[in-house]
Amino acid sequence: MKITFLGTAGSILTAKKSFPSILIDKTLLLDCGEGTTQKLIKINSIDTIKTICLTHLHGDHFMGIFSLLWHFWLTNRKSDLTIIGPSHLEETIKKIFALTNAPGGLKVLQFKIHFKELIGNDGILEILSEYTIKYAVMDHPILAFAYRVEKNGKIVCYSGDTKPNQRLIDLANKSDIFICESTIPDEQAKFADKYGHCTPSGAAKMARATDCEKLVLVHISPFFTEEIDRSINNIKKIFNKEILLAEDLMTLEIRHK
Ligand SMILES: [Zn+2]
Ligand SMILES: [Zn+2]
Repeated sequence: MKITFLGTAGSILTAKKSFPSILIDKTLLLDCGEGTTQKLIKINSIDTIKTICLTHLHGDHFMGIFSLLWHFWLTNRKSDLTIIGPSHLEETIKKIFALTNAPGGLKVLQFKIHFKELIGNDGILEILSEYTIKYAVMDHPILAFAYRVEKNGKIVCYSGDTKPNQRLIDLANKSDIFICESTIPDEQAKFADKYGHCTPSGAAKMARATDCEKLVLVHISPFFTEEIDRSINNIKKIFNKEILLAEDLMTLEIRHK
C-alpha cells in the first residue's frame, strides 16, 4: 500500500502546503482540500481516482472537490465516482457545484456520483473490493469521522480533525501508519481542547495506546510552527517509535509480506 500526502496544511494555506488530502495507492482519496486536483495531475493520478472519503465538511477538507469535478467535466470523465462523508454531503456538494455555474450543476457530468452519507457512530464500508474501510465519529465542533483503511493486512488510520478520544485509539489499533492531526502546540492545550484539535503530545499518547508502528503528524497550524517543532522533541519520550512530520508530496510505502 502506498500513501501519498497531497496536502498537509492545517487551518490555512502556506507557500509549501495545500489543504488536507491523502492518496492511497492510485484510487482512494482521504479528504479533498483545495489544491488536490493540481497535485493529482502532477503525480499522474487524476484519472485513477475511484473513491473519496471526506472526514468532515469544514472548508479546508473538502473545497477541492469542486475543482476536481470541474476537471472531470471538462476532460470528459466517464467512470463512476463514489463520495463518502458526513450527513448533508450530497446536498452540500450539489449546492456549491451549482454555484460554479457549470450548466445544470452536477447534471453536466458524464458519469454518476454515488454519494454515501455515514450514519451512526462507527461502521464498516463495503464499497471497495480491495480495501476494508472502517470509520468512527470523532470529537470536533461539527460531525467528523476518522477512517481506517486495510488492505492485505496492512493498515493506515487517518484522524481527520478531532481532539484525542478513545474511539480513535480503538480505530487506529495496531495500525502500520497512524496519521494524526496535530494542529495546536502543547503550550496551548486548552485552546486545542476548546476547538476540537490535538496537540503533538495528545497525538503521541494516542499513538502509544494504539501500539501503531509509525506516527505521522499532519494539519499543523502555520500559526504555531516553531512551538510544534519544540513539542516534537518532547513527544519522542511518549511514543518511542518513528514519528514523521508530513510534507506535501511525501510518500510512504507499507510493504506486503
Ligand atoms: Zn481542518
Ligand atoms: Zn475541522
